Amino acid sequence: MTIQSPVFTKINESFTCKNCNYLVPLSSSTCRDHCPKCLFSIHVDNNPGDRAAECLGLLKPVAWSQHKKKGYMIHYKCLVCGLEKRNKFLEIDSNMPDDFSALLKLSAITKV
Ligand SMILES: [Zn+2]
Ligand SMILES: [Zn+2]
Repeated sequence: MTIQSPVFTKINESFTCKNCNYLVPLSSSTCRDHCPKCLFSIHVDNNPGDRAAECLGLLKPVAWSQHKKKGYMIHYKCLVCGLEKRNKFLEIDSNMPDDFSALLKLSAITKV
């Protein structure tokens, strides 16, 4: 039994943000899974990149933190199922890096 997703079925393809309608371009370096403008993402993965989740709820960015090796991380909460997850903030990208001011509008998590 599978539920087909009308959008967001391929990895690293441009897509339209479900939150702000921005047409998100490809990333030059990685599999982009969130909007560089508003940082919203979609709950499509059970494990990173597998696109196996059937939820497809909006992942709302709620906070950020700094990871020793990975750099800035965005903390998400799914508005449908409540799942919490983290994604790497895309700081450097030749096509379209994430909006740093949008990240800073979220609350900072300073504990490690
Ligand atoms: Zn957006
Ligand atoms: Zn979800």
